[in-house]
Amino acid sequence: MRYLSIFGLTLVILMLPMLSTVAAQDSTEIQLTDSANSVAANEIISDTTQVTGSLYPISDERRQKLFSYSSFNNKWRFASFFIGLGIMAIFLFTGLSAKLRDWAGKIPLRFFAVWVFLILFLILNYIFEFPSHVYRSFIVESDYGFMNQTFFEWLKEDLIGLGLSALMGIIPMWFLYRLISKMKRWWLAFSIGAFPFLVLMVVLIPMYVSPLFNDFVPLEDKQLESELLTLASSVGIEGSDVFQVNSSKQTTKVNAYVTGLFGTERIVLYDNLINNFTYDEIKFVMGHEMGHYVMDHIWYGLSLSIFLIAFSLWLTDRTIHSVIRRFKGRFKFDKLSDIASLPLLLAYLSIVSMLSSPISSSVSRYMEHQSDIFGMEKTEVTGEAAATAFDKLSVLNLSDPDPHPLIEFWFYSHPALKKRMEFVRSVRP
Ligand SMILES: [Zn+2]
Repeated sequence: MRYLSIFGLTLVILMLPMLSTVAAQDSTEIQLTDSANSVAANEIISDTTQVTGSLYPISDERRQKLFSYSSFNNKWRFASFFIGLGIMAIFLFTGLSAKLRDWAGKIPLRFFAVWVFLILFLILNYIFEFPSHVYRSFIVESDYGFMNQTFFEWLKEDLIGLGLSALMGIIPMWFLYRLISKMKRWWLAFSIGAFPFLVLMVVLIPMYVSPLFNDFVPLEDKQLESELLTLASSVGIEGSDVFQVNSSKQTTKVNAYVTGLFGTERIVLYDNLINNFTYDEIKFVMGHEMGHYVMDHIWYGLSLSIFLIAFSLWLTDRTIHSVIRRFKGRFKFDKLSDIASLPLLLAYLSIVSMLSSPISSSVSRYMEHQSDIFGMEKTEVTGEAAATAFDKLSVLNLSDPDPHPLIEFWFYSHPALKKRMEFVRSVRP
């Protein structure tokens, strides 16, 4: 859901627990709805295996690539932040947002004016963002050899994603503006109301959204499956909750994650991971994911998100009104309850989210470390096998094992891979 960027920020905040805290490794992003159908998946898988076979262990050339990709990602965090703010500024300072509101207000059914505004805003925002989005998500990924799709395959999935984000994002936005116009403590009411909505999303997404892009099937390697099922049942997880996904349809990156609630919980392993990792390495990754599952990290992640949403909105409410008063001539709206203020609200949330990132990142890193401990305790793999799993994640995904401490503190949802390697080696040398 990377395309949501600033528009769907509320939603992204909500989805953070799924997107990042629960994934097996960091690197920089977790791709929830990236991808796929099944045609020729097998061919791609075998290709990937051959390619990856030559990628590990790392060569000098690949090490250079790793450094340049990591350094690019670090710069891009800031670039994309400012691009998002710039786009919101265009909406506000050109009066475009107010014009959209006026156009939407002309439709015969007044009740739907807000919905029309939101759809127009979403489409225009997508168009403005399109160049930077294509650059980051298609061109750069292709340049570094991660992309397994043609441009049009990629674009088709991206547009489906846009449609889904319209469906899922518009309801909370509409709800938010209803509350702003009706009550003083709208920020609190919204945060409380967001909780069941988020829970619903976490339940529905693995069931109905992710399968639109990828095939989720029981593990195909039956020997591996039986070993993982034994492991799963030893910690009280039903084996039927373990899936492999044909992520190789879209990307060569490797990953694994846990998602779902109320019986829709599932542990998902990327086929790229299964094809490139040994049984012991996969077992450790599974042990880590089971840790998230057993320790209810999804609930903690959701609760943290709600807290951060409440805090962000409260802070916004304290400060945004004076900005509106100051610029009302340019913006052509004079109160927050005017839907035309949406770009300003999103810009605010984006800034607060950037500033509060160390809080969510730190909590996430703590849970990740707990899961690493769990993985080492519940599996019998050696520290070396677990460390090799992390090393492969770093090399295959080109993620920096040893980032600058400030970058790690601010942005990393997972501890630096070098630390994780040192930790698992220290548990069982
Ligand atoms: Zn994890």
